[in-house]
Amino acid sequence: MTAPTNPQTDRAGRADDAAHVGQVGRADHADLHAPVIDWFTEHARDLPWRRDTAGPWGVMVSEFMLQQTPVNRVRPVYEQWLARWPRPADLAKEAPGEAVRAWGRLGYPRRALRLHGAAVAITERHGGDVPTQHAQLLALPGIGEYTAAAVASFAYGQRHAVLDTNVRRVFARAVTGVQFPPNATTAAERKLARTLLPEEEATAAQWAAASMELGALVCTAKNEECHRCPIASLCAWRLAGKPAHEGPPRRGQTYAGTDRQVRGKLLAVLRDALVPVPQADLDRVWDEPVQRARALDGLVDDGLVEPLAGGLYRLPQG
Ligand code: SF4
Repeated sequence: MTAPTNPQTDRAGRADDAAHVGQVGRADHADLHAPVIDWFTEHARDLPWRRDTAGPWGVMVSEFMLQQTPVNRVRPVYEQWLARWPRPADLAKEAPGEAVRAWGRLGYPRRALRLHGAAVAITERHGGDVPTQHAQLLALPGIGEYTAAAVASFAYGQRHAVLDTNVRRVFARAVTGVQFPPNATTAAERKLARTLLPEEEATAAQWAAASMELGALVCTAKNEECHRCPIASLCAWRLAGKPAHEGPPRRGQTYAGTDRQVRGKLLAVLRDALVPVPQADLDRVWDEPVQRARALDGLVDDGLVEPLAGGLYRLPQG
């Protein structure tokens, strides 16, 4: 699964240009590896999906949940999820609506359906074990390039470029010399990420996790803390005097009043109900009828809500 993209701002040309002005030359890329990995060894957060006990399924679940949701909101849901469904086959035998229910308030609930679909495919095609090969992972329903690379790298220690929002920001600053990456991932960024990958497999896997953590903890979108950054002396953006962002405006995270908010409210009613609910129960949570109907239609179209005869609704039963 990939983050939402904005075709108007996916400006590969601009990023290509930017990639060429990076002040850290290719020969110097390797200089970034050791400091970032050493920093990670000392400062990495102890997160449940990083423990050996998580296993490949735990890593996969965490990657679905973390893509658009912060760690502190994911952690309790992740722990309940793994306690209830410790193996893909445990989830696969449940109705998809149970995955949506357990997803709770993590947001973007289509991820729950996709994770359920992946669990079914893993059970049917791979004997219940999360496959080890990137191509097999990518062939699972609901798994995109990012998740396939992340699972192959974090669960199996393989060499893949894992390009999430945090990594993209670190690379944009440290290597390309700009404050923010483009709004949507570009071919130039993928190429740069491959160029930056250490040759040795285990080191590459460490680099993927370490560069991601650096972006999450030190080189954040709101506030870069260069004084505690292990690559401050090499960072192209910092060395250039931190020039202001010149690209397109960055995407906002508006929520209040959006269809997303209405969908969240409607879905919350269904998550809390153990029996099908009448339309009137849904009507109570949002006053504006046109927007409410549009949101409900969207949930039905996405397979997150199942309409029944008699004007009743429930979570999907499969
Ligand atoms: S030096 Fe500052 S801007 Fe550069 S990578 Fe480190 S935290 Fe980010």
